[in-house]
This record gives sequence, C-alpha cells and structure tokens, in this order.
Amino acid sequence: MKILTKISQCRKEVEAARRQGLVTGLVPTMGYLHQGHLSLVKAAGDQCQKIFLSIFVNPIQFGPGEDLQKYPRDPERDMALARENGVDYVFYPEEGQMYAKDHLTYVSVERLAEAMCGAHRPGHFRGVATVVLKLFNIIPAHKAYFGRKDYQQLVIIKKMAQDLNVNMEIIDCPTVRESNGLALSSRNKYLSPAERENASIIYRVLKDSGKKLLSGKKDPKTIKKEALEEFEDSGFIKKTEYFDIRDAATLEEVKTAGWAGDIVIAAAVNIGGTRLIDNVVVSKKK
Ligand code: AMP
Repeated sequence: MKILTKISQCRKEVEAARRQGLVTGLVPTMGYLHQGHLSLVKAAGDQCQKIFLSIFVNPIQFGPGEDLQKYPRDPERDMALARENGVDYVFYPEEGQMYAKDHLTYVSVERLAEAMCGAHRPGHFRGVATVVLKLFNIIPAHKAYFGRKDYQQLVIIKKMAQDLNVNMEIIDCPTVRESNGLALSSRNKYLSPAERENASIIYRVLKDSGKKLLSGKKDPKTIKKEALEEFEDSGFIKKTEYFDIRDAATLEEVKTAGWAGDIVIAAAVNIGGTRLIDNVVVSKKK
C-alpha cells in the first residue's frame, strides 16, 4: 500500500492503473475508519482492481462551532486498517494541498441541499460537494463508493455528478450498524457506553415509522408526530433536529398516506451533545 500526499502522485498512479486496463475505485472518507468505511472498501474490492482511499477532514464542510478541531483522528490506525483491508493507495493530503490560500470556487447543489441536514448546517453540503468534486478530479477512478448512512449527501453527490457530467459511476452501499441497530459513525466515539445503548432508539423509531408508513394506516404527519414524541419521552434525546419523511429521489416532503415509490425517513438527533443521523428507505410499488 502506498501513502500519497500530493495530487500529482494520485494522478500518476490512477493514470498508470487505467493504462494497464485496471478498474479503479475511489472511497472518500474523513478517516477514523470503522466497519462502515471498510464495507465501502470491500465493495470497491469486489468490483475494482485498484482501490484508492482518501482520508481528509474537510474543513469547509464544518460550520462555526462544529467539531472540526475535535473530529476524531487516528492516521496510524487508519493506515493499518486500510492495508489489512486491501487498499492500494491512501490519499492523505495536508489542508494546503487541497485548498490553496486563494481558493475561490465552490459547488452548490441547489434545493436538495436546503432541507434536512442542510437546513441545520448552512454551507455543509457546499463544502461536501466541493471536496468530493475535487477528489473526483484528483483521483479520476472508474467508480466511487458512498454510504447510504449519509443519505442526503449521497443524493446530492449523485445529482452533482449527473449535472456536471462527472465520468464516474457513483455506487451506494448499505448502512453498517452495531448489533443494537446504531449506525456506525466516527462520531460514535463521543458517546459514553450508556449513550451508545440509548442511541439505538434512533434506528428503532425509524424502522417502526417505516412499518407504519407501509401499512398505510397512518399518514406521514401522524407518524412524524409519534416519532417526535417517542424521542422526547426517552428523556435522553436533548434535541430532535429533524424527523422527515421524503421522496427518496427528490427529497420533497411526503404529506399523504397514498404514496408510492421510494421514501426516505431520516432523522438527526442530539444525544449527550453528539449529533447523530440515520435513515431508512421504504418502497411501495407504484
Ligand atoms: P465519513 O468519513 O463519515 O465522511 O464517511 C465516509 C463514507 O463512509 C461516506 O460515504 C459515508 O456515507 C460512509 N459511511 C459512514 N458510516 C457508514 C456506515 N455506518 N455504513 C456505511 N457507510 C458509512
């Protein structure tokens, strides 16, 4: 496994692999790797002959007062995990390599970035879309892998790739969870053992809401009200940032019980000062 810190090195290695006719895959991450990240590496390994993993805590997707400074980092452990899991190249740039002092260009995916997390983290998806497009240009692999755990991010990246003619296949991978249902996240490190257990409520409520939605007996508004009550009654959810029922492709709010197609039910809650997000997708034939 090679660790690359310079953009020019990445370009050279991708071009060399592509010239040899090898299928290349890119897995963008912010590091502090867990089994969720590694499931993307595994998916890349199943479809590609050369795997590029990027590790970069992207400052421009963090708002003022967010956890940029304390975001968990452990590059040595990450490198060992990457090596053990068959990664061929880790792109591990310094901030100056990614953002020159005179950087002026940003990517905004309109509308899709305004709801859900976007409504609560202004500028977040502009930062995400910008860094992801940069990574696509730095490592122009055949395929790029993203987790459904960050559902809105996935929809936004797919839309950006489509709108800006990105010549890369975007592949989404299922959410990896702890045995109690909690979606794996680097930020779970902030949770105490009790909070980690309590946090299982998020997936449970999302799943229950999915069942209610599929049964057709309750409308989305009622399901949302009941979910919010359950979060509040738990006593340990300090704040529910949002609980939304939306069309899985357009992210438009679903208001009627008579829906069909794919629906995403997504939530962001705060447990013990840690912001956690999760989602489920339910489908009904049109
Ligand atoms: P992050 O390092 O949090 O920016 O995540 C990097 C990539 O890993 C993103 O595509 C995430 O959606 C994905 N990811 C994070 N957590 C999980 C998980 N629990 N299951 C599947 N993919 C995940």
